[in-house]
Amino acid sequence: PEDIKKLMYPFKYSSTFTRKETKIDDSNLKEREKERIFCQRCYNLKYHNKIKSSSSSSSSSSWQENLTMDKSFLNFLQKKKNSIILTIIDIIDFPGSLIKNLDNLIGKNNPNILIANKIDLLPKNFDEDMIKIWLKNSCSEYGIKNIHKIFLCSAKKNWMIKDLCNEISKIKYYNDNIYLIGNTNVGKSELINSFLRTYVHNSKKYEVTSSHIPGTTINMLGLPLNIFGDTFGKSIKGMLFNNNNNNQEDHRFLFDTPGIVNENQLFHFLDQEELKMIIPQKSIRPLTYVFKPGKSLLFGGLGRIDYKMGEKPIRITVFSGLDSHITSIEKADKFYKQLSSNEQNHFLKPPIGSIERLKKFPEIIKSIKDLKVVSNEELYIKTKKVSILDIVWSGVGWCSIGGVKIGETAIFDVWSPDGKGVYVRNVPL
Ligand code: GDP
Repeated sequence: PEDIKKLMYPFKYSSTFTRKETKIDDSNLKEREKERIFCQRCYNLKYHNKIKSSSSSSSSSSWQENLTMDKSFLNFLQKKKNSIILTIIDIIDFPGSLIKNLDNLIGKNNPNILIANKIDLLPKNFDEDMIKIWLKNSCSEYGIKNIHKIFLCSAKKNWMIKDLCNEISKIKYYNDNIYLIGNTNVGKSELINSFLRTYVHNSKKYEVTSSHIPGTTINMLGLPLNIFGDTFGKSIKGMLFNNNNNNQEDHRFLFDTPGIVNENQLFHFLDQEELKMIIPQKSIRPLTYVFKPGKSLLFGGLGRIDYKMGEKPIRITVFSGLDSHITSIEKADKFYKQLSSNEQNHFLKPPIGSIERLKKFPEIIKSIKDLKVVSNEELYIKTKKVSILDIVWSGVGWCSIGGVKIGETAIFDVWSPDGKGVYVRNVPL
């Protein structure tokens, strides 16, 4: 029944989120697009989703050459005082897209706004408040406590962008630049573009190149805040210059910083075509399976979960843009042995391509062994929620384990390429 379903899982069943979308006037967009001048690298990214090395004529040159940024470059933020930090994460890759040790990196004096991006990909009708509380608690578990406020946004669809900018303009002690930080591929460039689309007349002139290829912002990119007009301009200037001199030029910048490489993100293993296969284009439709002991759920060639031991069937709900399949554990073992051969099964994709490509793909190994899942009776009585935990494949999706009866234990093995990129997290309660 609906009322029972509602209690189970906020990503799927709740209905309190109202989407605040800013309508953008895109008349003459095509005309303006024609006027834009791209460098060759950005042109290839935007129109062909390819990165071509400027030093080599080979079109197969890898985007990975750009993935050289680690988070040490953020050390300069510790010395800053009163800079607003916008930390962006990908909601469908949480906690995988969280920057570890963030509080130390950005220092105490800089207010940190957490932006959970790509909200448009979540199943419709999720519970906004519940997800915010869950994000806050989970961040705290990872030692991230300095969070001024959390915003659930979609940079692509301009959801909540005005609210976010209003909040930024309200922060009082703000007298330095704004820095946007996050792992590769979380949507930093798209967010800057969303600010531009929302606030800047003829924004196409400034737009930054956004692509599903990780690592596409090479250097720190600064946009003068005065192009944003009222939002970051006048209201801030009033506070900044004690209302004495509102005409003074604003010389501060909004910086889009290079993506921080997290080697655990699974899309570092994928090439351009494969990335296209895993990144969902629209809101994810959850799929619930009855999962019996002895069965394995396959996430293409990127991982699997085996229900190794347990008394009864449980419920497993998959949230991913990638097709999932259920088979027996024995068959799964056999299929994954074929992964690097040309007999590769159609449901083990990605990886895709030539036999050389398949051979190069990292072996799928056990990342978590004997994961014990038990129902928490106390929690069940308190919340009436039967989902117990989520297993997340970074950037690929997650599955929510539910329906383990009180007093029973279900035991799982979880597999991923090279044993990387898998997280177990509590479900939002
Ligand atoms: P960056 O590496 O952090 O600068 O990430 P990009 O801005 O280049 O975005 C990475 C990929 O995520 C691109 O394919 C974007 O189109 C996509 N993306 C960014 N923001 C959103 C969003 O709000 N919703 C969806 N569905 N996709 C997004």
